[in-house]
Formats: sequence, C-alpha cells, structure tokens
Amino acid sequence: MIVDQHVHSLYSFDSQADLKSYADFDNRVLMTSEHVELCNSAHEGRDDIPDFAALHSQGQELAEELGIEFVMGMELGYAPDCLSRFLPLLDEFPNAVALLSIHQDEGTDFALLGNSTSRYDRHDFCARYFSRVQEAIGALGRHCRILSHLDYPFRYRHIDAAYVFDEFSEEIHAILDSCQALGLAVEINTKSMFKYHNLDFYELLLEALEEHHALPITLGSDCHYAKDWHSHWPEASALCATHGKTKYVRFHCDGSSQLQPVI
Ligand SMILES: [Zn+2]
Ligand SMILES: [Zn+2]
Repeated sequence: MIVDQHVHSLYSFDSQADLKSYADFDNRVLMTSEHVELCNSAHEGRDDIPDFAALHSQGQELAEELGIEFVMGMELGYAPDCLSRFLPLLDEFPNAVALLSIHQDEGTDFALLGNSTSRYDRHDFCARYFSRVQEAIGALGRHCRILSHLDYPFRYRHIDAAYVFDEFSEEIHAILDSCQALGLAVEINTKSMFKYHNLDFYELLLEALEEHHALPITLGSDCHYAKDWHSHWPEASALCATHGKTKYVRFHCDGSSQLQPVI
C-alpha cells in the first residue's frame, strides 16, 4: 500500500486528529504534512505555523515506542508577500518533506473566493492561476519535494477539466517541466478526486504525466480526520498504474527518497 504523504493532525490549524491515529504499521511510518499558512485568509489573516519543535519531539517519541519511522512534513501555502518568513522554518528542519500548495489569489483562499472569482471569465481565471503556480515553484520549489493538488481552485469553482487541459496544455506541461527540473513530485490528491469531484482533472493530469516519464508522483488523501486517511486508495492506485505510473516516490526522515510500487 502506498504511503499517504498528505495528512493533517492537530498540529494544523484546521484539524483535531490525534497524531497517533496516523501510525502506518504496513509501511512502518508515521508521517503528517502540517499547514504553514502565513497571512491565512481562511483564518482572519493570522500566521498559522505549527509548533514543529513539539511535533518533532512527540513524533520521534511515538515512532520510537511503536518501532516505526517518523517523517515530518509541512504543507507550505504560497504567500508571495511572506516568502522570507518560510525560510527560517525550512532551515530549522532541513529534512522535513515540504509540500508546495497554491491556496490563494490576491491574499484570499480559493475556498473563500469560490464563485465570486467570476469577475474573471474561466480563461482569465485559469491563466492567472497557472501563472501563480509557476511563480510559486520559482519562489519555493527548490525547497520543496511535492507539488500538491494542482486542481485546488477547481475544487471551489468548477471548470470543465477537458477545457482546462485543452486550453492550457502548454502551461500545464511547462509546470510539469519545472517540477522535473527541481525534482518535485506531483501529487495525486484523492480528496480532490472524490470529495470535490475532480476525478476528470486527475485522469487528464495522469495522461499529461505520461509524457514526463521521469517525473515521480505521490498520493495524498489530504485528510483532516483519521477516518479519511488513505481514502479511495485502491481506485487511485489502480488509476496511476493504468497511466503507466507504476511507482511512486516515498520520502524518509533523513531527506532520502526511494521509488516504490503503487500496487
Ligand atoms: Zn492544501
Ligand atoms: Zn492539506
């Protein structure tokens, strides 16, 4: 079974899940990827930075007791005005697995913008978003290991995936090229696929990834409750394999990584 490498516990501002509930005995690992949201528009503009020192010591202690490995992850929500404030965190925990996420536009989370972004027609909306993704990769990509949920704004403003991949094929392939150049894995996010009904987007993303053989993938449930951990794993693993992605990249606590079979 693939390791779930996008997981939130009570160290994230929007989860109450117990760290221990994510002990993966099959893979002998305990991993979470807690939110770092600076100027968090989904939380009255405050800086949400987990207590990583406490997480690190609790995670280590727990993993030792259970005889498994603790891997600390952080999901960095790209905030163009706060870039310098990410760096001390990354310096302090150089082996943490950083996920790069683009949650906002002009300082407001897409979850809050929802359909109010209709001041932009669908073309301009997509064009703005994909250029933000490139900007985020340029700014923080070299510090990160995973590009998370590329469909994020389409969770909240539905735009037909066939339109997105037809019209923005060049931009999407350029993003995948940037990921490859920086060694960023591309996440297949099961919460997006099933809870937010963006399965079509991920089918087309996996099709696009067929042209990027060397680009690794990861799987993330993006769960905030232990009950959603590994959500829809068999369907997602099978879909990856169908598109020739028979391996995913697994990260370890010492910063190393290895390719493992998806099924
Ligand atoms: Zn996210
Ligand atoms: Zn997340």
